Amino acid sequence: MRIWEDIVTIIGEKKDRTTLSLLKEVKDVELSGNTLFISAPDEVYKEWLISNFIEDIQECACRLLGQKLTVRVISEGEKKKKAEEVKQTEEKPHRFYRLNPKFVFSNFIVGSCNKMAYSACMAVAENLGKIYNPLFIYGGVGLGKTHLLHATAHYVLSKNPDANVIYTTADTFMSELISCMQQGSILQFRQRYRDVDLLLIDDVQFLEGKERTQIEFYHIFNALHLIGKQIILSSDTPPSHLSGIQERLKSRFISGLVVEVKKPDIDTKLSIIRKKTKEMNLHLPHDVMLFVSKTVNTNIRELEGSLHKLKAYSDIMERPITLELARDILKDVLKVQNVEELSIEKIQKEVASYFAVNLNDMLGNSRRKKVALARQIAMYLSRYLTDKSLTEISKAFKKKDHTTVINAIEKIEKAMEKDRKLKLTVEFLRDKILTL
Ligand code: ADP
Ligand code: MG
Repeated sequence: MRIWEDIVTIIGEKKDRTTLSLLKEVKDVELSGNTLFISAPDEVYKEWLISNFIEDIQECACRLLGQKLTVRVISEGEKKKKAEEVKQTEEKPHRFYRLNPKFVFSNFIVGSCNKMAYSACMAVAENLGKIYNPLFIYGGVGLGKTHLLHATAHYVLSKNPDANVIYTTADTFMSELISCMQQGSILQFRQRYRDVDLLLIDDVQFLEGKERTQIEFYHIFNALHLIGKQIILSSDTPPSHLSGIQERLKSRFISGLVVEVKKPDIDTKLSIIRKKTKEMNLHLPHDVMLFVSKTVNTNIRELEGSLHKLKAYSDIMERPITLELARDILKDVLKVQNVEELSIEKIQKEVASYFAVNLNDMLGNSRRKKVALARQIAMYLSRYLTDKSLTEISKAFKKKDHTTVINAIEKIEKAMEKDRKLKLTVEFLRDKILTL
């Protein structure tokens, strides 16, 4: 309050007595970071102070305190709210740290590709620090790792709102560490991670090659692990494939349970499509759903992206989505993906017609150079553009066993390395077939 007396002395100079006594009615003044909070007894007073004196107060306070600051006048009511906010953040420093409210267990579709990871997260959430510690989840991008981590955090907090949960990414962990080191507040950094009940670190592959961060993380990990606090980690590769990570850290990573999230199979994709389209209020006929689930082969994020594309189209054009439309709208996606529904027959026909050879000759035993080459390329493309097994491919080419197919694939692969023209031909055919 001394500061307010000084401010009043300065800005009250040459002011009448009424104004002076009014200025003294300020309830409280508090400096928090770079903000000077001035508590006014009520709203009317607040307006009066702001409209008459805010600039003078600002200038005066900066001079007196020798630092740049912002002045904020708040009424009693706002003061209470502010106090609660401060209390909350003090008590639960990182509780709701960037948790996506949509990433919850009830939203997560379980299929054979992610069942293990899902069950492990559930089990861990129910028994913090008691079973799999750490739990290490790995898998390609867009396959639900972050979703599972957030869901676990939400679940734990819903059961115990007082639990101290920190979710962060390895990347953020590192930048926070660096800024704490620069500000000389490394102890606070460590302190923050000391009393955590559940620590979730996403994308630990970012720690690759970051020696200093790894050392800090190693100590935090050990300290928590020792006292039975739960740690969950995610990465885009299994621990053994992480390079540039200290061995001692890697061996910690695998000391609990390591689970993989895999690419979704058709059935899981269909369930996801059904659920998401319902949420998005997008009606898709069954054949379109099947088409999307067969076409989008990369990950669930792309699957969502495709659905949003279809939704945007149907909203703008005010037309229901048919299979033909879906094909057209998603043609960019199709180009970069393996098209599962592509049949070997289609490939055979395209290749035969490109080389102008008779389809029956190509499927027979002719050893004519052009026919044999067409056959080999068709086999090669069948292998890479469809999900068919070697046995299925050899059947489609009327071969008794699959050695012929393996030989053909190897031959084309080798030839493509040396023969640029052949490589271009194969790529041309591939693109042509993919956009059929
Ligand atoms: P990752 O962290 O593995 O890269 P995310 O967790 O960010 O992937 O998932 C990408 C998107 O896909 C998110 O919008 C997420 O909600 C969704 N998603 C992933 N897996 C599932 C699933 N099994 N059920 C429902 N949505 C999922
Ligand atoms: Mg992620």
